[in-house]
Amino acid sequence: MFDKILIANRGEIACRVMETARALGVKTVAVYSSADRSAKHVAMADESYPIGHGPAPADSYLLGDEIIAVAKSSGAQAIHPGYGFLSENPEFVDAVEAAGLAFIGPSADAIRKMGLKDAAKVLMEAAGVPVVPGYHGANQDSDHLWGAADAIGYPVLIKAVAGGGGKGMRLVERSEDFTEALASAQSEATTSFGNPDVLIEKYIQQPRHIEIQVFGDGSRAVHLFERDCSLQRRHQKVIEEAPAPGMTQDMRQAMGEAGVRAAEAIGYKGAGTVEFIVDGAKGLRADGFWFMEMNTRLQVEHPVTELITSVDLVEWQLRVASGESLPAQQDDLSITGHAFEARLYAEDVPKGFLPATGTLTHLQFPASCRADSGVRAGDTISPWYDPMISKAIVHGATREIALSRLSQALAATQVGGTVTNLAFLGALAAHKGFANGVVDTGLIARDLDALVAAPEVQPHHRVAAAMQALDLIEADWDTGFTLWGDLHRSVHLRHQGEEFEAMVAVDGPDRQIWTIGETEVVAAPACSTWDLGGHSLPTVSQAGASITVYDSYGLGFELVDPLDRDATAGGDLNVILAPMPGLVKAVFAKAGDAVKEGDRLAILEAMKMEHALLAARDGVVAEVLAADGDQVEAGAALVRLEEV
Ligand code: ADP
Ligand code: ADP
Ligand code: MG
Repeated sequence: MFDKILIANRGEIACRVMETARALGVKTVAVYSSADRSAKHVAMADESYPIGHGPAPADSYLLGDEIIAVAKSSGAQAIHPGYGFLSENPEFVDAVEAAGLAFIGPSADAIRKMGLKDAAKVLMEAAGVPVVPGYHGANQDSDHLWGAADAIGYPVLIKAVAGGGGKGMRLVERSEDFTEALASAQSEATTSFGNPDVLIEKYIQQPRHIEIQVFGDGSRAVHLFERDCSLQRRHQKVIEEAPAPGMTQDMRQAMGEAGVRAAEAIGYKGAGTVEFIVDGAKGLRADGFWFMEMNTRLQVEHPVTELITSVDLVEWQLRVASGESLPAQQDDLSITGHAFEARLYAEDVPKGFLPATGTLTHLQFPASCRADSGVRAGDTISPWYDPMISKAIVHGATREIALSRLSQALAATQVGGTVTNLAFLGALAAHKGFANGVVDTGLIARDLDALVAAPEVQPHHRVAAAMQALDLIEADWDTGFTLWGDLHRSVHLRHQGEEFEAMVAVDGPDRQIWTIGETEVVAAPACSTWDLGGHSLPTVSQAGASITVYDSYGLGFELVDPLDRDATAGGDLNVILAPMPGLVKAVFAKAGDAVKEGDRLAILEAMKMEHALLAARDGVVAEVLAADGDQVEAGAALVRLEEV
């Protein structure tokens, strides 16, 4: 085993790798960007070193040579790449090995073979692994591709061969729409991956995403069963589980064997995932799954496999990378119970899942779940990296038990200081179809309105926020009773843009009579907390003017200063601002254009996502202040409309 390893990553996965390294007695070296000086992964490591010259990934975590130099000078013997960043970069693997270090992952050759989806499909066909029917040849002539799509039969999916993260994909329903969709997929593929090539696949109508965890030692491989990742939003995973609901023994064996064939065909070493698509309309059948792609790294959702197999995949990674052969044989592996993982992000769900930033003024995960997280209370979700806060991971003897544990864990998770997708995850965990195991990748989109509905605020929530605002929670009962004599106060608060006034009459230490509009709530002390008209006072936290009540997945309130109410109301509808720092991918507006409210004026890429920036009102474009390719700061004006 190694004495010391360097982790070329940040956040959740860097912390996850360090936990296992520490348990194995392996020392850890962290690297960090200028935005991450006081990050959790830096504090956790035995040694840590700054890298790069700025927070952007290209100026920090993607600087392979600099990271290798730190590994050498710190005496690390190996580099763990985590996921994302350099994890699937074969040139980096070559450079690591050329420096005399071990790469904790597959060979550069194996990564190259699976790097492009078209080449991977050719290779898998040859290895006898079923692939999604379609065209994945070299001829990229648009008429040829069109003919291929017609021959496959609509609907078809156009995919960038270099694609990832759901980018460069276009669904085409009719032949006459093909050419336009092709052009747009190619242009997205060029900007995102520098490679315009595409492949065409038969579009599976009710797709389920089922993937096989494989593990190899360079010659032989085993599989650790399947994960179902069908709960997706825009081709991105939201909740994952293992095993897959409805999986049959025959199909599991057939998929597992296909995964092992795929891994052995490329001499795979380490943890990898073979992703398959299954036609949910036809049910789970041993001949009904097709290879989509292989991810040659540890996957974000690896913990659900760990919980059903009791294998620590990072431990296996370190053992195999240090020269051991496979830690277990196929027959040693079995499934116990059921596991779920939900990805908790700082994002503004009502605003179209816009990634959010902020300092986590309060952060608490329930002890009942495994919370893999890269942040602590007080840490900041910066605009530079992906806005994941944590993963809530649960296990239970059955799917039903595990799912109810997931619901409980989400309900008991408290995040203050930023908006999150917690309520959305909670609604998903409570979704009837999901509970019945009826999953496919379209579930979220079909029920989106119900899933993103804001939790309802009740009078006792407003009272809780108001009590915090007026400092009436931690009342000191033993002193100064007379101070309570007949006190009347009021406070103005805002919840989701709607302002209200809460008035209180305190007539002694054991009674506060609150009036909000027409509603009256009596607050009275009860068992070391407060009873608010039949509800006990939820946990409340405050940072500056923002107050969070931890019920219904966290309800945010803002203190309104009556003096600057006018300034904060509304906002300037004339100027379209960048909501976060990012790269301007496209500007559609031109000076003089007449636009309607909701028209797309520009696209900003930030935090791994593209955001459409919309006109806030009808009007005429006065000025365009940004161009394609500009890197802009949060709050930068991009487009100005003429005053009316
Ligand atoms: P998966 O299929 O396992 O979800 P993705 O390829 O979408 O994998 O991304 C894996 C993870 O890698 C992301 O959730 C993110 O944490 C990290 N990651 C990838 N690229 C970047 C990047 N440019 N900046 C920050 N994090 C990244
Ligand atoms: P990426 O590299 O972006 O992860 P994938 O090829 O893994 O791309 O596909 C991402 C997602 O797109 C899948 O999980 C699935 O939801 C959907 N998808 C991919 N191929 C098909 C297909 N042929 N039919 C229907 N849906 C598909
Ligand atoms: Mg994929």
